[in-house]
Amino acid sequence: MDPKLETKYIFITGGVVSSVGKGVTAAAIGLLLKERGFKIAVQKLDPYLNVDPGTMSPYQHGEVYVLDDGTETDLDLGHYERFIDISLNRLCNVTTGQVYSQVIEKERRGDFLGGTIQVIPHITNEIKRHIGLLAKRKDVDIVLVEVGGTVGDIESLPFLEALRQMRSDAGLNNSFYIHVTWLPHIGATGELKTKPTQHSVRELRSIGISPNMIIARSDYEISEEMREKIALFCDVDLRAVVPLVTTPIMYEVPLLLEEVDVADIILDHFGLQTRQKPNWRNWKGLVKKSKKDKPTVKVALVGKYIELRDAYMSVREAIRHAGLELGLEVEISWVHSATLEKKKSWQEVEEADGILVPGGFGVRGIEGKILAAKHARKNLVPYLGLCLGMQLMVVDFCREIFENDEVNSTEFDPSTDHPVIDLMPDQRDITDKGATMRLGLYPCEIQPNSKVAKAYAKKIVFERHRHRFEFNNAYREKLEKEGMAFSGISPDGLLVEIAELKDHPFMVGTQFHPEFLSRPTRPHPLFVAFLRAVGKRAEIL
Ligand code: GLN
Repeated sequence: MDPKLETKYIFITGGVVSSVGKGVTAAAIGLLLKERGFKIAVQKLDPYLNVDPGTMSPYQHGEVYVLDDGTETDLDLGHYERFIDISLNRLCNVTTGQVYSQVIEKERRGDFLGGTIQVIPHITNEIKRHIGLLAKRKDVDIVLVEVGGTVGDIESLPFLEALRQMRSDAGLNNSFYIHVTWLPHIGATGELKTKPTQHSVRELRSIGISPNMIIARSDYEISEEMREKIALFCDVDLRAVVPLVTTPIMYEVPLLLEEVDVADIILDHFGLQTRQKPNWRNWKGLVKKSKKDKPTVKVALVGKYIELRDAYMSVREAIRHAGLELGLEVEISWVHSATLEKKKSWQEVEEADGILVPGGFGVRGIEGKILAAKHARKNLVPYLGLCLGMQLMVVDFCREIFENDEVNSTEFDPSTDHPVIDLMPDQRDITDKGATMRLGLYPCEIQPNSKVAKAYAKKIVFERHRHRFEFNNAYREKLEKEGMAFSGISPDGLLVEIAELKDHPFMVGTQFHPEFLSRPTRPHPLFVAFLRAVGKRAEIL
């Protein structure tokens, strides 16, 4: 066996403003290197004080992305998994909250005997220890570390200081710093401005980090002159001033970065030779399919965090993957479930060829989602319910057959006479909210002769979960008689993982979150089956 190569590090920071696609850029760079035969590990350092984003409202930070091992993480990890197509684990998302709580735990144990605990070196050492946990694994050649937020934030300082120290710890040629910035466009003169980038790099330098590469994001074409100016003022090789103009097709980013030799610049710095020729056939195919004119279908996504689209990032991407697979353009109508309760926004639901109710928590907007499920059931509109969307599909069905509108989940009405969805038994004594749900990958047995059996063409599947409530088995037999099929069950027979309606073209709800396992080149079978039904309803497929 080859001796382990000295681990290489790529550190990605952001400047000027946030939300310019730093996560996608990091993910795309990971893919460029993986395509060249390197084993990649990727890590997001988040400067907020929460231990993980699991307790945060999606309004604050977008979707909570769940990994195989059940870790609740930042949505950028979704980008990493979708682009690089590797399975990440709990080491891949580190927050200030984690770092501080571990340092304080050690202090209480007496590990620092007599020492005064300080940001430098104790917190920075702990951050470096976390990076090291990934780096020292045998199956890792290159570690990509992205720091959340933008340079200049008070909270990110300890992380940046740790990264600065990493240069001498890892060796000059083993660390590569990338700064992702934004070039604003001035409408009146029609020009792009480099000054905020210059300031941001100056700020980074004052912390002791000199970027090896600047990725300049912009909504407009970036001229050679602009790049020269950035190179001169920011003291970066012209070749390493990388223009990245906004593309409506996210999956084009790796190809755009490939065109301007990003991976070669990085590998040259590390003194590494490409191990294999990258194969872009699949990715080029995806972009080609995205650009092609396709017949349009409409899907109403009925949720309650719709003001922030990032809250449903993986669902939106899973829909996109399945649409590309089937040659459909999917227009998503973002419908706020609470407005349906006020009898508004129904036109979007009525016009839709399919309805999707995603996951969620809390009582607000619940009745609107139940009404959306009812509409799908009564009008034979294809429906996909994810986690909460499955639970509410069951509530709607039971309200109909019991002729009782008091049927509910105990999450929303703890004293309902018909608790068709109820707290899982092992959740009853849990009082802490953080990381205590049923989380991560669990097996599910697919029942033969069901819609999902046809979609999966497998007897057992593994899917990711994030919930506290479940279908109440006391109602199983009754509902089966009335036309609901429980087509996915945990191997011990105790937990309903999938429910579907027999006399309906496609009304399927999953207790798990299939959206987390959909990949651009491997769309999730349930999303494909759902969209196929949607295409049929629209008389396209
Ligand atoms: N609130 C529901 C539960 O805890 C659904 C969770 C979800 O949709 N992720 O079971």
